[in-house]
Amino acid sequence: MSDCLFCKIAKGEIPSQTVYSDDKVVVFKDINPKAAVHLLMIPREHIASLNEVGAGHDALLAHMMRLLPRLAAEQGLRDGFRTIINTGKGGGQVVFHLHAHLLGGASLPGFE
Ligand code: AMP
Ligand code: ZN
Repeated sequence: MSDCLFCKIAKGEIPSQTVYSDDKVVVFKDINPKAAVHLLMIPREHIASLNEVGAGHDALLAHMMRLLPRLAAEQGLRDGFRTIINTGKGGGQVVFHLHAHLLGGASLPGFE
């Protein structure tokens, strides 16, 4: 999608602090971190949200889920980490390109 912020980041048209990328996903630092470590993982393919995920995305989603603990370990999050996927306006989603937040370390907010 030409006017999508995260598509532009995936293509390198908008700069980001990339920490990992491969042919399927890009991972970069959140511009407004809510914890000591706050990364965003996006698929290169434009998928607006979890609501638009189909059976053809199974391999991509598995890839993303398996990468998250690897990245957390690389970031030194030995005690654990949190992943969040906001979906839709009611779920707090602001950028409509699927992304998983990876949070951890100091200042991780409470979650009740
Ligand atoms: P969400 O509310 O789940 O849609 O989260 C969107 C996230 O994208 C927020 O945590 C923002 O801080 C982050 N964000 C917005 N613009 C950028 C950007 N240019 N680079 C990195 N992160 C961004
Ligand atoms: Zn997009």
